[in-house]
Amino acid sequence: MTALPLVFDAPRRGKPPRHLADLTREEARAAVTELGQPAFRADQLARHFYRGVTDPAQMTDLPAAVREELTGALLPGLLTPVRTSSADGGRTRKTLWRLHDGALVESVLMRYPDRATVCISSQAGCGMACPFCATGQNGLTRNLSAAEIIGQAVAAAAAMANGEVPGGPGRLSNVVFMGMGEPLANYARVRKTLDALVTPAPHGLGLSQRSVTVSTVGVVPAVRRLTEEGLHVTLAVSLHAPDDELRDTLVPINTRWKVDEVVAAADAYAERTGRRYSVEYALIRDVNDQPERADLLGRLLTDRRAHVNLIPLNPTPGSKWDASPLPAQREFVARLRAHGVPTTVRDTRGQDIDGACGQLAAADRVDGVPAVALPQPSLEPPVEMGAEADQ
Ligand code: SAH
Repeated sequence: MTALPLVFDAPRRGKPPRHLADLTREEARAAVTELGQPAFRADQLARHFYRGVTDPAQMTDLPAAVREELTGALLPGLLTPVRTSSADGGRTRKTLWRLHDGALVESVLMRYPDRATVCISSQAGCGMACPFCATGQNGLTRNLSAAEIIGQAVAAAAAMANGEVPGGPGRLSNVVFMGMGEPLANYARVRKTLDALVTPAPHGLGLSQRSVTVSTVGVVPAVRRLTEEGLHVTLAVSLHAPDDELRDTLVPINTRWKVDEVVAAADAYAERTGRRYSVEYALIRDVNDQPERADLLGRLLTDRRAHVNLIPLNPTPGSKWDASPLPAQREFVARLRAHGVPTTVRDTRGQDIDGACGQLAAADRVDGVPAVALPQPSLEPPVEMGAEADQ
């Protein structure tokens, strides 16, 4: 397998149109005032946005004459659903979104008996080049704007609230940054997104901080920066190997920041927030699943505020690697637990729709395998909004 370069700086592309979710509350109020409307209309628009209302006709608290101007100026449709695929009887739904410039990203909504989690993308593609990850193999297209990231969570919250997922109307409870991209390589936009996720309505989705998880390959300076923010969101570190020699090959950023530095940065985050971090470890047959590595990982994490989340490798196209067989998984878990390290094995929801960890690779497949076409939820205003208005 040829090694890809690490890419931190996203290519510059045309900016998405201005959107309320990219603005601070003051900026949004100023923007509305510039349009000749009272500032409180910004709050009304925010309420509609976070509830997933995109059709101006439904915004009955706004004067009919200005609905379209205001939505056009501040709530442009940034995410156009191209395709929805579902699995688990509809309780796992993957959506492929097209962005204003044609870039594609995916998000996955998973409903469980006790919670509903959306896995969102922070970049179109990814520059981190992990060889076992489909997204990483396609390289980085660009950073997403805050509104583009937030919009994925808003769409999921609306799908739950509107009863589009089997099980009746419900609430989106969790957001994980485990879709496409490296969230900490798009720091400022992800930081804004975190605010929007945890700010109470009408200016946010009102999720609890602990139910939001930022997953990173270990961009150490950015983990430190996040620590300084004083947030209490959950941190997940994609370790995948306890030793530098192997991790250099599985998670190429390890050539910059080593295992010890990554773990130390996560410890500092845990210290500051009082919250345990999760260590993600994809179990790859005969690559990182040996009993000795389990012991090495166990020794590394003993007496740390870490919880290990093992993910049997999800197959990606063209990869020679495979998931560890069950007996190897069980042995790995037993050894970690023997070291006193809390350990769970993650389910592989959505694997059959390429919606599981590391399988999101929209760019590669837009014209490829047709997914199950479901009726599209009306997440976007019609393109020709109000075209008949003066007929
Ligand atoms: N860039 C971030 C978030 C995206 S991936 C990160 O790396 O943490 C979310 C998780 O899925 C990461 O732990 C990632 O390493 C893991 N992953 C990637 N490809 C995978 C695969 N093929 N099978 C199982 N897990 C995978």
